[in-house]
Formats: sequence, structure tokens, C-alpha cells
Amino acid sequence: MQVRRTAWRLLEATQPVHPQTRAALDRRWADLPEHARTPEQSLGRHAIGCEGTHGVFPRCDLTCTPCYHSKDANKVRVDGAHTLAEVDRQMAFLREQRGPRAHAQLIGGEVSLLAPDDHAAALLSMRRHGREPMSMTHGDFDADYLRCLVTDATGRVRLRRVSFAAHMDSLMRGRRGIPRPRSEAELHLFRQRFADMFAALRRELGVRSYLAHNMTVTPANLDQVAEVVAAVLPMGYQMMSFQPAAFLGDDRRWKEGYRTLDIDAVWAQMERGAGTRLPWAGIQLGDRRCNRTAFGLLVGTRWVPLMDEQEPLDAVARDRFYAHLGGVNFGGTPPVLLLAKLARVLAAHPADLVVGLRYGRSLLHRAGGLRRLLPALTRRHVRPMTFVVHAFMDAAQVAPAWDLLERGETSADPDVTATQERLRACMYTMAHPETGKLVPACAQHAVLDPVENAGLRRLLPLVEVR
Ligand code: SF4
Repeated sequence: MQVRRTAWRLLEATQPVHPQTRAALDRRWADLPEHARTPEQSLGRHAIGCEGTHGVFPRCDLTCTPCYHSKDANKVRVDGAHTLAEVDRQMAFLREQRGPRAHAQLIGGEVSLLAPDDHAAALLSMRRHGREPMSMTHGDFDADYLRCLVTDATGRVRLRRVSFAAHMDSLMRGRRGIPRPRSEAELHLFRQRFADMFAALRRELGVRSYLAHNMTVTPANLDQVAEVVAAVLPMGYQMMSFQPAAFLGDDRRWKEGYRTLDIDAVWAQMERGAGTRLPWAGIQLGDRRCNRTAFGLLVGTRWVPLMDEQEPLDAVARDRFYAHLGGVNFGGTPPVLLLAKLARVLAAHPADLVVGLRYGRSLLHRAGGLRRLLPALTRRHVRPMTFVVHAFMDAAQVAPAWDLLERGETSADPDVTATQERLRACMYTMAHPETGKLVPACAQHAVLDPVENAGLRRLLPLVEVR
């Protein structure tokens, strides 16, 4: 009896995909609009999509133009107890609706305005709910703050791994040391300093990190994107994400000349900076009009794609991956358990081993062969590097489309229909347990944030307001 029970437990523990993950992925796939169900689509096959918090700490201490925060955001007090209660409530709902594992952003105003203990407690709460958290910041904080975040009052490390996205661009105002940058180049020093703080953390406390560099792109800095890519590549970040500006948030803070930026124009600049083609069409997250992602490795100074749509073998490997490994939790599973899960997949699909080996050989060839890869590996000059463009939509575009979706209606207007398609294929979700809804971030920022922040201003006033 005991043997049978142990065998059953072992089988359960080594299931390649958690049953709740499988159910959540199936639901996501079924909810995707037809146009998004392409062979490249990762949502519903492998990924459930990103998640983010809202209404937790809307305030920010920079004065950027443009600013996506609604006009009441800076009148809301940063309050640790409120943040923790909200994070817990939203993450519990995401866990229930979207399965036991996802990546989630601790996002609101500026995360470093939270006391380090509150910030750490929020990250630990997210992990308890199976979320791998990323803190979203303007990056203007000191190494002392970081140290207080990862260690407790006794100096013991409480966070062995942290993940941060630093938003830095020349449209931002009020950064210490450079309140009004005149060009992107003037910020390189600050970009490097930010990455260096985490390198020191690894050396001194053994705390690992994942760093993303985010940047808003407008006509004013589009022609500097290539230079930013080239400069940031060696700094130690693992992701570079560019967001063409959208008309969202506080319209008093829209002072820039503005026109809609073509996602192709931004991508062309990124390729120029990387000095190579950045193939993105082989793996899609949500809608092509919203997101582009090129996954790869930085080997020395050379970027090597993990998926190239021009390589037929890559498409075969991707299809096998989605079919047999889609939904496997690679990042959050202990190595031995992960090996057991992979062994079960291979036992069920032995031909995958051949495809995997052929793909590995092709990747090695792309990376310049063992002659180049081995020295880079021994010098620790190999790291993941993902390039992203995320194109939010204008509030004026989102509001009518979301209103109709809420009423279960599809618009007859092709522009509104296009927006509805994007919202239905959204890969960036926020939780509303009070209404039982999952909301695309565009709808959150365009429609819900202003009302939410007006309420928070009364709940958490900086000064008493009637
Ligand atoms: S948040 Fe908006 S732009 Fe981003 S994926 Fe969702 S609908 Fe598209």
C-alpha cells in the first residue's frame, strides 16, 4: 500500500505540466480570437502571459513627459499595508484564474518609494502565489536601498534572486544627477550604474538578478534607439524592451510632438544597434500589432537567435516544444525534478530527442561553434538577451472598444474591431477580484486607472481631501 502511494506521489510530482496550468492554457487558447491562433502563438500553448499589479502604489517621484499615470496618481500616499493587502488579493485571484505559475510585474508608480521591508514582503507574497515577480522602477535609487531590500534586519539574505525592469530614457524628468537629459547618450552612465549595483550584489551577497532595460520611444528619440541598443548590450541586462509612446494617462504631461510610431521603424533601429537581424516572427505572444519578441543569447559581443523563422528546423523544434513541452515550468522547478519531467516527456515522445539534438547542433553552429562558445562560456560571457517591442494603444482608441467588449458586442467599425482583437489577444493582464474580471493592461490604464486613483486619493490622501 505504502509503495503504491509513494509511486503515485512520484508520478504526480513528475507530471510534466501541472493540471491547473494545462486547464488555464486550454482556456486561454479557447478565448483567443481566431486571427491569433497561429502556429507561432505561445499564449495558450506554453505561456499564459504576463501579469501586473494595479492600484497598489500609484505615486511616482519623477515628472516625465509623457506620463502614463492618471492625474490623481501622485496624490495617493504610498502605504505598505495597503500595497501588501492588494498584492495578496490580486495574486490570489490570478493564481485561481490562471494557474500556479506566471511572471508578474510589481508595478504602479515607483516601486522604490515602498519601504524596503514592504517591497520585499510584496515580492515574497507574489512568490507564495506562484508568481515570479519583476519590480518596475525608474532606477533612481541607491545600492543601500537594494541591500535593505534583499536582506532582513539581521543582515540575512531574504531574497536570493530579484528581477528588476529599469525604465530609463531622455523623456524622463527629475532623475538625480541628470534632471533634464538632452540625449539618450547622457543616460548611459546611469544605465551602467544601475546594472553595476546588481553585479555588486551578486559578488557580495550571492544574490542573482534578472535585469530588463525599458525605454519609451517617441519621434524625439527614435533615431537614438540604435545607439541605446549598442551601448546597453554589454552592460549586463538580459532584456531590452522598447515601448512606442501611446496617448495614455495624464494629458497635462504630454508635451512632446507626437505621432503614432510604426513598430517596424522601432524594430529597424533596434536591428541597427544590435548589428544583426533580430528574428521575431517565429514565436508570438498575443497580437503582432502589440508585441514583438526576439529570444536569443549574447555570446561575447554577438547576439544569437534561439528562434529564426528563416530556419525550417527551428519551426519544427518549436512545434514539438509547444506540443510536448508547452506549459512545463522550466524556471521554477528544481533541476532534478525538471530532469525527471523531461525524461517522462522523452519517454512518451522519443523522436523529440533527435529533433532536440539537431536543433542544438544548428544553434551551436549559429553561435560560432565550440571554438567560440567554450571560451565565452568559461569567461561567463554568455547570457540570455531578449529584445521586445510592446506597443500600448491610445486611451481614445481603447475606451470605445473596451466598452463594447464589456457589453459582449463586436464593433462594425474596422478600427474599433482591430482594437477589440488586440484586447482579446492581450498578453498583459491585471486582476479585478472584486468584479471577477481579468483586464488587459491597456484597458486598465485607459479606462480603469483614472477612476481607481480618484478613489485611492480619498482612501490614502497625502493631505486630507473632502
Ligand atoms: S496591454 Fe494593450 S498593447 Fe499590451 S498586449 Fe494587451 S492589448 Fe496589446
